[in-house]
Amino acid sequence: MTTSLRGFRDILPPESELFAQIEAAAREVFGLYGYQEARIPTLEQKELFVKSTGDTTDIVEKEMYAFTDGGGREVAMRPEGTPGVVRAYIQNNLGQTGRNGKFFYIGNMFRAERPQAGRYREFTQIGAEYIGNPAPAADAESISMLVRLLEKAGVGGCSVVINSLGCAECRKAYREVLLGFLRGQAGKLCEPCRGRIERNPLRALDCKTDGPWLAQEAPKRTLCPNCEAHFSATQRLLGAAGVAYEVNTSLVRGLDYYTGTVFEVRSGALGSQDAVCGGGRYDDLVRSMGGPAAPAIGWAVGLDRMAMLLKDRPAPDKAPKTFVIAAAKEAGDRTFALMTALRAAGISSDFSNFELSLKSQMRSSGKSGAAFALIIGEDELKAGTVAIKPLKQQGEQFTVPAADAPAKLKELLNAGNNL
Ligand code: AMP
Repeated sequence: MTTSLRGFRDILPPESELFAQIEAAAREVFGLYGYQEARIPTLEQKELFVKSTGDTTDIVEKEMYAFTDGGGREVAMRPEGTPGVVRAYIQNNLGQTGRNGKFFYIGNMFRAERPQAGRYREFTQIGAEYIGNPAPAADAESISMLVRLLEKAGVGGCSVVINSLGCAECRKAYREVLLGFLRGQAGKLCEPCRGRIERNPLRALDCKTDGPWLAQEAPKRTLCPNCEAHFSATQRLLGAAGVAYEVNTSLVRGLDYYTGTVFEVRSGALGSQDAVCGGGRYDDLVRSMGGPAAPAIGWAVGLDRMAMLLKDRPAPDKAPKTFVIAAAKEAGDRTFALMTALRAAGISSDFSNFELSLKSQMRSSGKSGAAFALIIGEDELKAGTVAIKPLKQQGEQFTVPAADAPAKLKELLNAGNNL
């Protein structure tokens, strides 16, 4: 037997139902905030991620599913959604449409990380990007929408951590200070950090090995007056929106394009992979990718991890309301037509195999969880009727004209509170 690849998994019922529920909650929330969906390709030119996510990031350096295709093109399976949305924004001149620049996506991402609970090589992210608004209100709206989405989906017990990385100027100044410090501490740094401090010293703060002690000992970032004002206005607005958060000046996030506000949402219930969502401002990315000057902010939440947090919730009842049974050899066509009519009337219906015995079909109807079995045997066939047998409630089997069956069923289901 050929099995799925390590780190790749099947999302089957009831988990797939949970995914659908979360997606529905997300779509509802996005609608309230004026976000519209962008469906972007799974495969892109490799250089898109190298240039945007950054070539010193783990994602690009070690984890990307990148290969040369049959036509000799260097391509990559998307490891995250932002670069594709930004490319689409630029390529389609979306900045000139006069629209609000708010996009969401729901899609699978690929990273060749070491698989463990909550960490897969293919996973799904729900992401939001707000392109073109530099104001602190855009930051506060983006974060509060995320919190609303988690609430709406039923995910509780999360904490929001925010920080500001400052503008290019602030980061340049801090980079020098931090680099000086890290050079002096090179002996204490892990191998990968030592290898990249000259290229990207900030990444050390985000390192799983060195991050914790650097948070204590490394010099703290400072912000210019503009960035300080932006960050405090963002916090004030978050307060006005009733969002609880915590400031952590060591939070940097693993991608290169972040500027200004960055944030993460974590849940203690997830164990070691406790990040539910990550995001931040990327004011220079659109321009650096060849587009207009369009400051932006966005985030991506992990659907797999949200589903893990909800897995103990009772699964929604997906049993069909009715189950049709052909109890005579020639009754199959009529029974099939009945099932079609029920579905057309908005009543869910299922069947097993009309060629099996009545007993066997009855057994299947019991297992299906349906509220009513609808049986067409020889008598019903002759009389043009259907026998209705309640499966979940007390009550005798009774007969109605076949044409009246959908209306009768609707009445019964409504009376029984849909059973
Ligand atoms: P990132 O793009 O790394 O900021 O990740 C954003 C969110 O996506 C994380 O907070 C996780 O919820 C989710 N995520 C990232 N990587 C994985 C993965 N390998 N498996 C499952 N979920 C992931």
